[in-house]
Amino acid sequence: MQSGLRENLLKVLDGKEDGIIPVLSVTQTATNGLMETTGAFWPQAHSSAFQMAELSLAAHTVGGLEAIRYPFCLTVLAEALGCEVDLGTINRPPEVMSHPFAEKVEKPDIPADLYDRARVPVVLETTRRLKNLAPNVPLIAGMEGPATLVYHLIGAQDYLKWALFKPETFKMYIREATCICEGYAKLLFEAGADVICLDDTVAGPETLDCLLFETLIKPSYQYLTHSIEGPVVIHMCGNTTSILSSLANCGFEGISIEESVSVAEAKSQIGSRTILIGNISTTNTLLYSTPEEVEEEALKCLEEGVDILAPGCGLAPETPVVNIRAMEQARDKYQNVFVK
Ligand SMILES: [Zn+2]
Repeated sequence: MQSGLRENLLKVLDGKEDGIIPVLSVTQTATNGLMETTGAFWPQAHSSAFQMAELSLAAHTVGGLEAIRYPFCLTVLAEALGCEVDLGTINRPPEVMSHPFAEKVEKPDIPADLYDRARVPVVLETTRRLKNLAPNVPLIAGMEGPATLVYHLIGAQDYLKWALFKPETFKMYIREATCICEGYAKLLFEAGADVICLDDTVAGPETLDCLLFETLIKPSYQYLTHSIEGPVVIHMCGNTTSILSSLANCGFEGISIEESVSVAEAKSQIGSRTILIGNISTTNTLLYSTPEEVEEEALKCLEEGVDILAPGCGLAPETPVVNIRAMEQARDKYQNVFVK
């Protein structure tokens, strides 16, 4: 069903139930095996549109995933805004090393040429390249959500301090970050992306309590999903159960959950308001178990009601390719037995 992958995903994200359950990842997909197959290795593949396209495409052509998800990190906007980034190694993803706006309580200075800076043009060029290479396969462009961007700009300490004691400054930063995310998402869609995935763990209950989420973050999400034309899904790591119902009112086309969230519980929280994406364990199962065990966990996710079968988080680079492929096999079995 190669030719219909894009159409099918968009249909599912639109809440139409007659499609085939997509098997994909909204979080990072590069593995050492795929790097060897393509010759596109970390860390170089973070800075080269050619390598980024080849490596992310391989998760579809070799790994069997039904979408192409790129880039492989959550540092692109932060770097363009002046954070120093360590690009990591073959096994370690890029990481933000400095927070240029820490302790600056005045309005942050946003460069006019922001989207021409650092690796933003690389991701946009990757999008155009992939659109040519695989026009029928959906492109999922990942990016830092507004909270993650603020967290990177001001650092963990100010992030928590301002959320509690300087909420107006915090909100001002979130508003700026929201505009940056909005502008970037627009460019990604123009370049050919089909879906945007905001990754925004630090907005969730592992970092901010639910009340702070409501007052400081939710308005930003509602604004973004309203202003961005095109499907937006959100991923948060950790146990997000306590905010799922509220998150389902933010206008996202899908919510991606980690394995610490129960699929059945998540489903009962969100109902039919949005699509549930998840949540095969990336460490316990995809990294360390056998394809049979991946299949077993995938079938459980499907039976409990995920709308899109996906890893619970970004793949560990050492994940065996056979385990990625096992997800698709599980979906095929499930749909043959239970749906036909
Ligand atoms: Zn995660």
